[in-house]
Amino acid sequence: MTYQGLIHRYRHLLDLPAHTLNISLLEGNTPLIPMPRLSTEFGCDLFVKFEGLNPTGSFKDRGMTAAISEAVGRGAQTVICASTGNTAASAAAYASRAGLRSIVLIPEGKVAAGKLAGAIAYGAEVIQIQGSFDDALSLVVEITQKTSIALVNSINPYRVEGQKTAAFEICDVLESAPDWLCLPVGNAGNITSYWAGFKQYQKGLPRVLGVQAAGSAPLVLGHPVDKPETIATAIRIGRPARGEQALEAAQQSNGRIIAVSDAEILSAQKILASEGVWVEPASAAGLAGLIAESAIGKFDTRGKKIVVVCTGHGLKDPSIITESFTSPKIIPANYEALLSLVGA
Ligand SMILES: *Cc1c(COP(=O)(O)O)cnc(C)c1O
Repeated sequence: MTYQGLIHRYRHLLDLPAHTLNISLLEGNTPLIPMPRLSTEFGCDLFVKFEGLNPTGSFKDRGMTAAISEAVGRGAQTVICASTGNTAASAAAYASRAGLRSIVLIPEGKVAAGKLAGAIAYGAEVIQIQGSFDDALSLVVEITQKTSIALVNSINPYRVEGQKTAAFEICDVLESAPDWLCLPVGNAGNITSYWAGFKQYQKGLPRVLGVQAAGSAPLVLGHPVDKPETIATAIRIGRPARGEQALEAAQQSNGRIIAVSDAEILSAQKILASEGVWVEPASAAGLAGLIAESAIGKFDTRGKKIVVVCTGHGLKDPSIITESFTSPKIIPANYEALLSLVGA
């Protein structure tokens, strides 16, 4: 049968109320891409779970199909979320699909171009907050407690239900859980969901390496960060809503949560692109963490099966590339000029 989306495929494993409808853009079913060069370098079988290939370009679609399907089934007419960008685009797309109004709050000037454009294109009412993501989240929590507007941030339990499916898919392809799962950690909904998914699916448990950006690493520092900073805007979060659960996932799995610098993130982004997978900066944090830990002898990759989760597509944040690369050369439109430049 042709693929009909995550709720259709996994509903029997998801804790969703009976009134939940099926609002789908055929999200999920993303490829687990083998990375032969990285595998050779680290003496392991390394795969990228490329979540940038979801309908709106990030893994957020997995949770959003569930959250919007539930919200519309219970009669909600308006949904709201705080977002560093990808949640906004995803909420807007699924809300429009369901015929709902969507409102998104974003931190002023801190959202990557492709994400903001997506949220607007899909029809969200986008509001910039003169504050951080954490401020925006407090505001949407308050308004959803006091009005009938439905909250679709990852504190919404159905987001976690939908996001568990990525763990199911990995086990289906590998026929068991990998030895390690490496992924970025921002608000910590995704690490929480993967861990819940692996535990439920009973195909083995990976050790989990959660990776934060050094300028936004509350779970590594052990306290909230008031002014989180990093070029990886999707994980620029100082007070993770599911921080406790993230620490639990790391501890229960015999893994850990670490921080990497922005330079290490950008370097990992380049390495992934050089093997054909272009991801946004935050999405490269998982690989950056693996490289950093292995370099100091804390991560023995040899002989292991390792899945690196790449959470969002490189197209989301094009300016990070154009800023750090030289612009293309300009030549007259003739063959001699081309040949002399190419030097073949
Ligand atoms: C949301 C997001 C993250 C962080 O996920 P959390 O569930 O908030 O930890 C990482 N990368 C990308 C691309 C994202 O959109």
